[in-house]
Amino acid sequence: MYDRRQLYIDGGWVEPASDAAIDVENPATEQAVGAVPAGNAEDVDRAVAAARDAFPAWAAMPRKERADLLRRLSEALTARAERIATTIATEMGCPMRIADRIQARLPATVVASHADVIKQQPDDERIGNSLVVREPVGVVGSITPWNYPLHQITNKLAPALAAGCTIVVKPSELAPLVSYELFEAIDEAGLPPGVANLVTGYGPEVGEALALHPDVDMMSFTGSVRAGSRVAELSARSIKRVALELGGKSANVVLDDADLETAVKVGVANAFLNAGQTCTAWTRMLVHRDQYAEALGLAERFAAGYPPGDPLARDTRLGPLVSSAQRDRVRGYIDTGIEEGARLVTGGVAPPDGFERGYYVSPTVLADVDPDATVAQEEIFGPVLSVIPYADDDEALRIANNSTYGLAGAVWSADSGRAESFARGVRTGSIDVNGGQYNPVAPFGGYKRSGVGREMGRFGLEEFQEIKSIQL
Ligand code: NAD
Repeated sequence: MYDRRQLYIDGGWVEPASDAAIDVENPATEQAVGAVPAGNAEDVDRAVAAARDAFPAWAAMPRKERADLLRRLSEALTARAERIATTIATEMGCPMRIADRIQARLPATVVASHADVIKQQPDDERIGNSLVVREPVGVVGSITPWNYPLHQITNKLAPALAAGCTIVVKPSELAPLVSYELFEAIDEAGLPPGVANLVTGYGPEVGEALALHPDVDMMSFTGSVRAGSRVAELSARSIKRVALELGGKSANVVLDDADLETAVKVGVANAFLNAGQTCTAWTRMLVHRDQYAEALGLAERFAAGYPPGDPLARDTRLGPLVSSAQRDRVRGYIDTGIEEGARLVTGGVAPPDGFERGYYVSPTVLADVDPDATVAQEEIFGPVLSVIPYADDDEALRIANNSTYGLAGAVWSADSGRAESFARGVRTGSIDVNGGQYNPVAPFGGYKRSGVGREMGRFGLEEFQEIKSIQL
C-alpha cells in the first residue's frame, strides 16, 4: 500500500489542514492501493505563501546554478525510474514496458533538457535604444491529468524552475502517487525550500483555489477542455497568464502512394498506446477509398496484437482504462458509433475474455465512420480507432481539419515533399511525417480547442518568462 498522508510545502513534508483523504485504486484489480490527502484552500494558501517567499532568491540565482539543480533532479528521477514505473502501472494501469520508457525515463530526460535550454538561452537583447530582458513570470500553479502523470508535471515544473519561477503542483486525484516520488527526488536534489510545493486534492477544491489565488501569477493546465476553460475563466479574474494543453482528435492521413502496411501498423500502435489514453493519439485513420478494404484488414490484424493484459507483466501492450467511469464512457462511445452507422471491425463493448475484473476495453476498430459522427469528433480516450475513407488529397485535408481540436497528427507518403506540403495544411500544433520520431525539445501544444501556448524546449521555457524593455 502507498499510504501518503502529507503534503510537500516549503521544503518539507507537512500535515494537511484536514484529514480528508482520497483513495487510489489499481484499475487492473479494482483494489485500493493507497491514499493521499484531499487538500483544501488552506493548504493552497500555505503552499502559495511558501512559493511567493522563495521566489526572489530563486529568480536571482544564476542560471547555471538553477540548471545544476535541475540536473541533480533528473539524476534523482533516473535513480528511481523502476519504482516510478511500477507506481504508475499500479495507479493508472499503464503497461510496464511503456511505463518504464515513456512514463519514468522520458520525464528525467525532459528535466535535464531544460537545464541545457536555460543555459543556452541568449542573454539580453538590444533593440535600438532598448535593452530587452527576460524575467520569470513568478509563482506558477500547475494542474495535471492522470494519463502521463509524471511527464505532465515535469513538462511544467522543469521549464518553470529553469526560468526562475516557483511552483505549486496539483496532480490528478486519480494518479497522485507518483508525484510523491517526484517530491522525494526534489527533496534529495536539494532544491531550496518553497521553490516546488505539492498539494494533492480534487480539481474544484485545490485547482480552483490555485486559479483564483491573487498571489499566483500563472496557471499551467493540462487536461480536458471542460476543466481547462474553467481554470481560464477563474484565472481571468486576476489577469493571470494561462497556458492550456487540452484534448485532441488527431488524424493519421495515409496518402495513396504510402507504404500502407507500415502506416497502418504504426497508426494502430499510436491509437492504442496507453490504452488510447493519450492526448496526441491518432484516433482517426484516413485512407484512400481504393485501399480502404485492405487497410481495414491490416488494422484488424494489427489490433489483434494488443490483447489486454496485466500492466505489471513485462510483455503486456494494452492495460485497463484508468477508472470504471472512463471504461463506461468509452463503451458508450462504441455504442454511439455503431448507432450512428459505423461498422464494428473488431473489439466492441463486451469485456475482453478473461478480464471481467479490471476496467478493460478490447482494442476496437470502427469502419465506415462519417467524418461528422460523434466518434470522429469527440475525444474518446480509450482504445478505439475510427477508419474513414477519402477520395483525394483535398478531401483528406478537409476531413483532417474537420475538428474543433488541433493537437497532433500524421501523414504518410512515398513522396516526402508531398507529405510535407500536406503537413503544412493541417491545422495542428504538431504532425509527424512518415513516422517522424518524437522530439522532446520541439514545441508541443495545440491549435483551436487543443489549447493555448507551447511546452518543451526553448518555446516551453519562454511561456514562463516576462519580457521587459529597458530604454537606455
Ligand atoms: P480533467 O480535466 O478532468 O482533469 C485534469 C486536471 O484538472 C485534474 O488534476 C483535475 O483534478 C483538474 N480539475 C478538474 N476540474 C477542475 C476545476 N474545476 N478546476 C481546476 N482544476 C480542475 O482531465 P483528465 O480526465 O484527468 O485527463 C484527460 C484529459 O486531458 C483529456 O481531455 C486529454 O486529452 C487531456 N490531456 C491533454 C494533454 C496535452 O498535453 N494536450 C496531455 C494529456 C492529457
